[in-house]
Amino acid sequence: MSLPFIHLHPDPAAKLYHQDPGCPTLSTPATDDQRISRDDAEAAGLTPCAACRPMVLVRVGTRRVAFHSDHACADLQSRETKCIGYEARPRAEAAAALKLKPCARCVPPVTYAVRGGRQEVTREQVEIAAARSIPAHGTTLGQPVWYALAGSGLHWVVTLLEDATGKRPATATTARLALAELGFPVMCWAWNRDFLERGHPWNTAT
Ligand SMILES: [Zn+2]
Ligand SMILES: [Zn+2]
Repeated sequence: MSLPFIHLHPDPAAKLYHQDPGCPTLSTPATDDQRISRDDAEAAGLTPCAACRPMVLVRVGTRRVAFHSDHACADLQSRETKCIGYEARPRAEAAAALKLKPCARCVPPVTYAVRGGRQEVTREQVEIAAARSIPAHGTTLGQPVWYALAGSGLHWVVTLLEDATGKRPATATTARLALAELGFPVMCWAWNRDFLERGHPWNTAT
């Protein structure tokens, strides 16, 4: 089930969509008639804008205690029939102005090292990236040794995160740790005893 994704603003020229109506890279102020669903955005080949503030889902109305960073959170879905809808708010606003707490069932976003800083990524972004890329298979498994199981396919950890956010992880180590923290099974392709005992030297160095 895909939940309504409020304030999804397409930018076809940049091949992006924005979750945040206040995103600084939106050329014109976002209006309601510019909204599209996430499915439509994906079908049009648009990818999430990396400059958008992290957005969370909150229930509409006053009977709410938590904000959800995982749009597929079971807590949101199980209560879908009991509330009148959801809206997306910047995470900082949900916490400070609305005084909501992070949902305990959501998988929170994690950050990983990139050249010059850190990049945040959500489980949802990784699932989207995995769904639109070709998984590894017998003839392509090889030199890149760390893979994450996302959707039904294995994906090299570095390109999976790069596809999800547009920012390439600094090392395979930061990539596999971030993906593991988001809950994706991560595995190593090892073809000799050295790898099994010590790990691949490119990927285990910190
Ligand atoms: Zn944006
Ligand atoms: Zn939740």
